[in-house]
Amino acid sequence: MLGNINSIETAGLLDGPGVRYVIFLQGCPLRCIYCHNPETWNIKENKLMTVSELMTNILKYKDYFGEKGGITVSGGEPLLQSAFVTELFKECKKNNIHTCLDTSGYQGKHEELLKYTDLVLLDIKGINDADEKYITSKVINNDFLDTCQRLNTKIWIRHVIMPGINDNEAHILKLKEKIKNIKNVEKIELLPYHSLANDKYKKLNIDYKLKDMKDMNLNRIKELEDLLKTKDA
Ligand code: SF4
Repeated sequence: MLGNINSIETAGLLDGPGVRYVIFLQGCPLRCIYCHNPETWNIKENKLMTVSELMTNILKYKDYFGEKGGITVSGGEPLLQSAFVTELFKECKKNNIHTCLDTSGYQGKHEELLKYTDLVLLDIKGINDADEKYITSKVINNDFLDTCQRLNTKIWIRHVIMPGINDNEAHILKLKEKIKNIKNVEKIELLPYHSLANDKYKKLNIDYKLKDMKDMNLNRIKELEDLLKTKDA
């Protein structure tokens, strides 16, 4: 089976536990205003690889994964290539490799894929439908999350914070309320907006709505993370 690959990082430290072999898949139906990988949007950009080609490469790095590491499939939106990722994760599980899926959870139940997924990095785009639509141009239904919950999949939540847009306490309290209803959440990460993608948008000739936005202040992220962790009175 062939997968449409954007790029590969062989020793990622940011996308899941431990050292990770990260595969960025091509294609995404969302248009997040802060997206720093617009080059992954177009599904027609083709760099095709088979599961067995990828596995040969992944196995070369297996010794570096240690106890915690493994592979992460990110994007783009990996659920667009669900059948391919399922085959890849099946092979990883046969080889005792930890599997992690980095997704927005956009569209579909993906039960078969989740059977072979050890951890989902769930990118929560908005705190309600209107917020999601503003951020991504679409509304994300709960089908994928419901399947995670039914299969008891472990989840790390991620949420991007942008200065002047959602770096306020009211937003974080609503996010907290939303997360409270999700089980098996092992970790919550607030990701600071950064402006590094400006040049990519220029090169691709795509209008970048946030071109004048400054990087998110990291001290403010810490304050908001503390607020998220505060126990309810
Ligand atoms: S889901 Fe990810 S790849 Fe797709 S537009 Fe949003 S940030 Fe970009």
